[in-house]
Amino acid sequence: MQVLNDDDRAYLSHSIRLIDDFPRPGIVFRDITTLLNDAKAFEFLMSHLQARYENYEIDFIVGIESRGFIFGAALATRLGVGFVPIRKPKKLPYVTISQKYSLEYGVDEVQIHIDAFNHIKNPKILLIDDLIATGGTAKASMELIKNAGGECVEACFLINLVDLNGYQEIEKFTKVYSVLEV
Ligand code: AMP
Repeated sequence: MQVLNDDDRAYLSHSIRLIDDFPRPGIVFRDITTLLNDAKAFEFLMSHLQARYENYEIDFIVGIESRGFIFGAALATRLGVGFVPIRKPKKLPYVTISQKYSLEYGVDEVQIHIDAFNHIKNPKILLIDDLIATGGTAKASMELIKNAGGECVEACFLINLVDLNGYQEIEKFTKVYSVLEV
C-alpha cells in the first residue's frame, strides 16, 4: 500500500531488533536482519516501497553499502530498473568517482563507478539506505550521483533517527521519505 498507517508502522518497527551499545557504548543499533529473516515483514515493506515508487519514472536505484544494497536491489527488480551500488573505497573494480565526508571523529569516503548511468540520458535516481542518522553518508552519496550525471529525485530510508537531523539536512537537496521515525 502506498501510505502506511500507525499499525503498519508499528508492525514493521517491531520486526527490527535493537542492540544496545553496538558497535560502541551509547549507540542503540537498529538491526534490520530480524526484518529480513521475517518473510512477511520483508514482503510487506517491499510491497509498500513498490507501491510508493512505481509511478515515479525512476531510471536507477542507488543503494549505499551495505544495507542499502539489500532494499535497493530488491526494489529495483520490482520496479524493473537498474541498481547501482555506492561503496567504500577500493571495492569497486572499474574507474570511480569519490566523495569524502566528515564523521564525528575523522573522515570517510564513498565511491561510485564513473559510467554507472551512462547508457541512459538524464537519468532519474532514487537513493536508498536502511537508516539516516546525521545524513553525512547520504549527502556524500548525492554528490556522487550528481557527479556521475544523475538527478536524485528522492532519498528513501527505512529508519530516520530524528534527533540527529539528517533528514532536514538532506531535504535541502532532494525530496526525502522515511518509512519509520524514531
Ligand atoms: P549517517 O551518515 O550519520 O546518516 O549514518 C548513516 C549510516 O550509518 C547508515 O548507513 C546506517 O546503516 C548507519 N547507522 C548509523 N547509526 C545507526 C544505528 N543506530 N543503527 C544502525 N545503523 C546505523
